[in-house]
Amino acid sequence: MAVAVLPEKATHQQTRTFNQQLVLRAIYDRNETSRAELARLTGLTRTSVSALVGELLRDGLIEEVGTGPSTGGKAPILLRVRPDGRHTIGVDLTEPYFAGALVDLRGRIIRSVRLPLHGRDGMAAVDVVMAVIEELANRNGQASLLGIGIGAPGIVNSRDGTIRWGVNLDWANVPLGAMVEERFGLPAVVVNDSQAAAVAEFTFGTPPRPNNMVVVRVGRGIGSGIILGGRLYQGDGAGAGEIGHTIYGAAAPTDSAEPCRCGRVGCLEMTASMHAMVSAAGQLEPEVTDAASLVAALNAGNENVRRIVTEAGHRLGQAIAALISVLNVNLVLLIGAATRLGDVWLNAVRERAATAALPHLTAATRIELGAARDEDDVLIGASALLMTRELGLSLVR
Ligand SMILES: [Zn+2]
Repeated sequence: MAVAVLPEKATHQQTRTFNQQLVLRAIYDRNETSRAELARLTGLTRTSVSALVGELLRDGLIEEVGTGPSTGGKAPILLRVRPDGRHTIGVDLTEPYFAGALVDLRGRIIRSVRLPLHGRDGMAAVDVVMAVIEELANRNGQASLLGIGIGAPGIVNSRDGTIRWGVNLDWANVPLGAMVEERFGLPAVVVNDSQAAAVAEFTFGTPPRPNNMVVVRVGRGIGSGIILGGRLYQGDGAGAGEIGHTIYGAAAPTDSAEPCRCGRVGCLEMTASMHAMVSAAGQLEPEVTDAASLVAALNAGNENVRRIVTEAGHRLGQAIAALISVLNVNLVLLIGAATRLGDVWLNAVRERAATAALPHLTAATRIELGAARDEDDVLIGASALLMTRELGLSLVR
């Protein structure tokens, strides 16, 4: 367990909240545990643990679940976190629709909604965010709602909940977190979508993920989330991992190529994303018009499509080699729509990543596919960040 730090001149209330979170997190991490074990795990006295457990039971956050094996005396009563003790509303602002879900404390989805954007942007798109949340909040009742976690594409300052740059939605410096908090009277967290997906993989992935890893998301766009020391690393400007708008070498002919949505030419997103592959393949093979037909043509053995997918995989592999060189992480997970391209794409990524960086660094690094629920990763991860902020849960192992 990582060490959390209490302010030097903590008030009585701060100390109590701190210790309560310490106990709750220990129960959460162990799945089931006893009061005696909690005292050992947290270093608190048995009396303090009993008092704190009593408060958590009264708050409905934990429950007693039978007895564990006796170690000589009376069999200990086991405690666990009640998955439905609190809920969060998770929201994913990836187009062409906004998706929301009611998420329990174990990252499971209870109910979901999605609303089409129909090309709306600016304040009209903010209205769609509010409508998604409203629908879930109304049908849940406020009592068990912990707050709202939102994952959004672009550069997002999650410290103050401001979307600094959301190019497709025409958002610049939109204080979405504050707007949502004011409207619903609940705490809100806003975070970059790929960073949120990385948190979901780290927090709820199986097998348990290591404390250092990078999650690269390849769909319509490309982004990544970096977990270091068991925490999301966001960088000084909250944009850490935004690799999609990096230009690697002379990746594209500059005069004829379609400009990127950031306004420049030759970004990784324009040469290695699903959008880029569909568009390149469509010029040679008219039957390729979207992600599904690209996957179908690849599986049917189309050589042109195979070459385009391999080249795109190589370009992504080069970007991943750079990440490995800077961070020296041993696990890189790939998620998003491109994972449906299977081994042709995955092998191309692995091959280039292994040869474009120092073998001493790449030899120990595994590049794997993430959990197969990429549809929900963003909203589950944003929910997990909210839980961490409000309850001290889950991001610390
Ligand atoms: Zn770009």
